[in-house]
Amino acid sequence: MATRACRIRILSLLLPVGLCGCSETLFIFGDRLGDLSDGIDTIEQCVSPLEPADLGEVFAGAVPVNWNGDTAQLSDDTHQTVADYYAGQLSSEVLPAYYLNERIFHLGSMTSGDRLEVEILSDVVSDVWFYDSGLTFAGGRAHDLDGNRIMLTFPINSENPDCFLRFNFFYLSNTGKPIAHITRTQGTSPGEPRGQTVVLNFAGWSQLTFRSGSLKPTDVGPTENAIVRAAVVQTFRETFAGYNVVVLSSDDPPPAQPYSIIHIGPADPRIGTLGQAEHIDFQNAVPDDVAVVDTNHRALSAASLLGPEVLGAALGKVAAHEMGHLLGLHHVSDPNELMTGAGCQGVGLDPLAMLNRQFARAPVSSFTNDFFVGYQDAPAILRDIVGISATDTP
Ligand SMILES: [Zn+2]
Repeated sequence: MATRACRIRILSLLLPVGLCGCSETLFIFGDRLGDLSDGIDTIEQCVSPLEPADLGEVFAGAVPVNWNGDTAQLSDDTHQTVADYYAGQLSSEVLPAYYLNERIFHLGSMTSGDRLEVEILSDVVSDVWFYDSGLTFAGGRAHDLDGNRIMLTFPINSENPDCFLRFNFFYLSNTGKPIAHITRTQGTSPGEPRGQTVVLNFAGWSQLTFRSGSLKPTDVGPTENAIVRAAVVQTFRETFAGYNVVVLSSDDPPPAQPYSIIHIGPADPRIGTLGQAEHIDFQNAVPDDVAVVDTNHRALSAASLLGPEVLGAALGKVAAHEMGHLLGLHHVSDPNELMTGAGCQGVGLDPLAMLNRQFARAPVSSFTNDFFVGYQDAPAILRDIVGISATDTP
């Protein structure tokens, strides 16, 4: 459990995001991996994820959806007191604004072959998350990289007596206005996975920007060391082995198909983070998105001392984590999981621990998510989104 001092520090870190309501800040998915400005102390800042015994209590307050046949309109007129759920977990300093920005709806039962479509009606909705009966979540942003509202579709692959839908807002809203129109369709077939190509760019890049506006134009220098480059590629390939992800480097000819690109090199220190992805790309809707890994970051100093192979392997894991975001994965709190969140549980302080991280089912991060309930099943998401490689299995 975090101390009072640590809780206050969480507040100071989170409130600028929660209160400013500016989309630029909210689009940042920077990964500090244990190297926040106040250093090693950040290990103690994290709040434990809610345990399964508590989860039923959390969702007991969800508003039942008033279905009209297979459609329903949801509004924000019922104020969820999410703060109550966290009583005893977080201090009153942290709770007031940030943790009230949620609406949770009880969808009822859904079964394999059902599909839920969520049409966003409000500009203040930032995220939409679906929870199945096992509280495994799938979720994405309500707006694309250009800020346009998007339709989110959730396929259901198993029998679920209780499903929930959670909305997160850019800022407090309790106006009674409609926030979403939802439609349930039965008997659908699952969508076909679509493989993804990624290029690991070691050649440098000038004026790198993100379409989400979260990264001011910056230069990324080249990664010169051939041993480092080879280790990055090998580690990245091993991490995605079994998934239908084609991994190329800037030493290869550019692919004909659309591809994501991860720039790996010394970046402007003002980036401040070890890695950044331009968005969490729910269901991999954007096949040509961008991320950056800063090879100069001081969080890598321990790995650097262990030689270019270890440094390259550590960078490969950071790049694979950013790729996870570009395929729709959120942060989780398990330090052994590759999508482990920033600053929590000693993340990133031990390069050898970093090298062992893999995609796995894990509880959502309490540090980088404002409503830390549920589990992300990364291997299942990756299988659904990009599919299984024909050559081997994950
Ligand atoms: Zn991340």
